[in-house]
Amino acid sequence: MLTNCNQSAEGDDKKSEYKALPASTEFDLVILNGRVIDPETAFDAVRNVGILDGRIALITEESISGKETVDATGKIVAPGFIDTHFHFQTPIGYSLGLRDGLTSSMDFEMGCAGSYIAPWYEARAGVTQANYGVAVSHELARAMFIDGSDGADYLINGPIAAYTTRAKKGWSQTRPNLEQGNAILQEIDKGLQSGAVGVGSTVGYMRAGVSSREMFEVQKVGARYGRATGAHTRYTLGNDTEENNGAQELIANAVALGAPANVEHFNNPGWRLAHEMIIRLQEQGHNIWGEIYPYAAGSTTINAEFLRPEIWIDKMGKRYEDTMLDPVTNEYYTLETYKATVASEPTRPIVIFKMPADDEWKWLTLKGVTMGSDAVGATPYLAPWDFPMDSLGGTHPRTAGSRGATIRLGREHKIPMMQLMSILSYNAAKHLGDTGLKFMQERGRIQTGMVADIVVFDPETFRDNSTYDKGAVPSTGMKAVIVNGQVTVRDDVLLPVFAGQPIRFEPQDKPRFEPISVESWNATFSTGMPSDFSGGVPVPDLDHPESDKH
Ligand SMILES: [Zn+2]
Repeated sequence: MLTNCNQSAEGDDKKSEYKALPASTEFDLVILNGRVIDPETAFDAVRNVGILDGRIALITEESISGKETVDATGKIVAPGFIDTHFHFQTPIGYSLGLRDGLTSSMDFEMGCAGSYIAPWYEARAGVTQANYGVAVSHELARAMFIDGSDGADYLINGPIAAYTTRAKKGWSQTRPNLEQGNAILQEIDKGLQSGAVGVGSTVGYMRAGVSSREMFEVQKVGARYGRATGAHTRYTLGNDTEENNGAQELIANAVALGAPANVEHFNNPGWRLAHEMIIRLQEQGHNIWGEIYPYAAGSTTINAEFLRPEIWIDKMGKRYEDTMLDPVTNEYYTLETYKATVASEPTRPIVIFKMPADDEWKWLTLKGVTMGSDAVGATPYLAPWDFPMDSLGGTHPRTAGSRGATIRLGREHKIPMMQLMSILSYNAAKHLGDTGLKFMQERGRIQTGMVADIVVFDPETFRDNSTYDKGAVPSTGMKAVIVNGQVTVRDDVLLPVFAGQPIRFEPQDKPRFEPISVESWNATFSTGMPSDFSGGVPVPDLDHPESDKH
């Protein structure tokens, strides 16, 4: 088996036109004597890797040399880690990610408002250490056209904007009228036209406001570009039936539309069924995948709909005293302090315990999943890249340690390294590459011709250090993190190297938006019917009928 794989990894790769360079080449960088792991070809052997002009130029048993050397003896040499669920898209956020082996970070859930996609990318060009990408935001489009939250100063920050926009309520609870609904969809289309990696939806925070029709139409906007919609699905957090019903909505829409979809953090009640549906659909050729992260607790803002006492206590049978932790003060909430904080500081971040700790490692064994960290902010959110990490505010430990935790848990539970490298890098690259994203077709692999995003780490010691008490402590045991051929972390030290590239589709000349109307629906799906029916368009807000006059 290894013989076949060796050939594939060492230059016979049919997908690549790239010809491996001779061992006599003077490389820019060489990584010597490491255990090279390529999840796509299942290659796993000790080799030397030569890098030239930002690409993997040779993988060989011969001795090679270059201007710079990383001694990888006893270390794993694997594709740089890729995360489709990284909200902390700021200089210090990328710093924490890089210490944890993250070379490509995307926010596929909250995302960035459509009109701000282009400036979001421009703001990071040439000054960012990891590769960066963002989906266009469903929630922020609703905040703009329902709540009037349209401040350029916060919307430019993408996911961080939610700490501002979530202080209002319409984005979550109000059904748009037809005019607002079309404005929301058009805003999403704008972001895709500007090259966003896909559509991000937090429908689970907008259960009352987003009709099933709206969710379908949002995914349809993405489908016109062939891009994935990622979602915090409708009933997360919910029980083991509701959770799967939420995943089923996203998945069924995707199948009906022929569109890709990413079922986010399904490591919740009912996860085995969600996973089985995803795998069966993959076997039928659908580009649908799922994310997990290895923590029993989640994190969100305290005003999240599913944490209201009617749901959290009455329906889910939980107590704030056991489940809701303030990561800054390290104190658990009570019903009284919960109510007081929702009133005084509605977007305060909290940590919420929801699953048995013994499930954490089991999620890492699932076939074909991706590890999406759901890294959230730590204050000060907009700190510079070299801000002292021990001065950062409290946050969920997944922000700094998801990849270290994955490898530590894998070590403790004897999960094969090939599986861990697949879920940390290749699987996300594969599914995103299959949506046409060229950037991801040439990453997530250690093969000649691929872009040199590489991690070199000690399989015995690399680990997370972040905890629920202290969430922003960086991981350790990383020999080197290489971004686009540049050594950016060496021996657990982050260097002043800014080689990050945009993860983005080519901006398009024309929009693809098509406004929805009863008339066009009838013309397409009916042989003729009166226009007074419901279910074809967003339902008017019956609590505010005046908002429907347009
Ligand atoms: Zn989420």
